[in-house]
Amino acid sequence: MPGDFEDMQFVVLSGPSGSGKTTIVERLLAESPVKLVKSVSATTRPARKNEVEGVNYYFLTPDEFAARRTRGEFLESAEVHGTGNWYGTLQSEIARAQREGGWALLEIDVQGGRQIIERFPQALSIFLQTSSETEYERRLRGRGTEAEEIIQRRLANARNELSQARKYRFQVVNDDLDQAVREIVHIISNWEAQRHA
Ligand code: ADP
Ligand code: 5GP
Repeated sequence: MPGDFEDMQFVVLSGPSGSGKTTIVERLLAESPVKLVKSVSATTRPARKNEVEGVNYYFLTPDEFAARRTRGEFLESAEVHGTGNWYGTLQSEIARAQREGGWALLEIDVQGGRQIIERFPQALSIFLQTSSETEYERRLRGRGTEAEEIIQRRLANARNELSQARKYRFQVVNDDLDQAVREIVHIISNWEAQRHA
């Protein structure tokens, strides 16, 4: 039940595709001053080459996803990027973070972010962006994991996501990766200090 997570601390990281979320999550898992447990999301999108079930995502069929959603197993869920693909955070992942004694780290889109921020006022929400809009395209092409049509859809969606940035407690610019990581580490340290003040 959601109420069971009232004392849980969440870090919610959102930002347009190409803003550097995945890269920064890896760095934070190693460098955060507070133990973070990455929530593994469920999705109906097909696995990419090199993606591993239960590590990158839980890959569900649309029917499985819908059934689990109806059963109330998700803390948040959304259809992302207008692809018809659903993504969501399973309550069982938050329970796992709680068992492991860390803060749950959620790398989710702005629709899911809004659901978590509204439900858990204590959530530490961070919106990641770059200072130049053309940089998203450059990075997505550089990453080379999506087809052209998907890149175009994600770029179109970036504008909508950017309009939600101010709903997050912190906005971090990821132009220089090391600097962005340092800034987030600092935000986490301050947040932890405030909780004990
Ligand atoms: P997201 O998960 O938000 O879609 P990624 O973490 O996959 O973004 O980053 C997209 C691409 O940009 C990757 O190839 C990554 O290596 C690169 N990247 C991430 N941060 C930076 C940065 N500060 N400067 C340049 N390239 C970056
Ligand atoms: P990708 O398909 O590139 O792995 O992820 C696409 C988008 O889905 C990203 O913006 C990512 O933040 C978002 N996403 C991943 N997991 C979740 C989730 O559990 N919930 C929501 N709402 N979005 C998610």
